[in-house]
Amino acid sequence: MPPSDPSCVFCRIVAGEIPSARLLESDAAVAFLDINPINHGHVLLVPREHHATLADLSDGAAAATAMLLPRLARAVMKATAAHGLNLVVNNGRAAGQTVDHGHWHLIPRFVDDAVDWPWPHVAYSGDELDRMRDRIARELDAGHDEGPSA
Ligand code: 5GP
Ligand code: ZN
Repeated sequence: MPPSDPSCVFCRIVAGEIPSARLLESDAAVAFLDINPINHGHVLLVPREHHATLADLSDGAAAATAMLLPRLARAVMKATAAHGLNLVVNNGRAAGQTVDHGHWHLIPRFVDDAVDWPWPHVAYSGDELDRMRDRIARELDAGHDEGPSA
């Protein structure tokens, strides 16, 4: 049995204990309509495994879930006649995550819709960009052989 949390709303939707407008299912993931959409047709793609954020998913579970994204994106775009689509992941409260079971949002977008994008930008100065590259690259090297839960 994959990791599951009986108090988690998405685990309960995945298990069929809470109703949802289901769109697509695989061994790895379930997709359904967001109950409080940013635009109509807003879809959530949820791995069956309960992990607080997507950064906690194994490579295999992430790949098996994410492989459904292109097909879902095409279907949402066509069904809603959207002009564009945002794929969004919120990891952690500071990033706006409210359900602690990592998931992807597929949000159909329309010219002149009410969504406020782009986000503001913060410039690098001096050698900040190079130092940031080195810091993240070091973390990637350090975690190379580890899965997130290893
Ligand atoms: P987050 O803010 O964690 O990235 O996104 C959670 C999303 O789940 C929100 O957009 C919210 O509307 C949606 N959501 C929360 N509870 C339910 C539910 O019971 N059913 C469905 N279909 N969506 C839900
Ligand atoms: Zn869960």
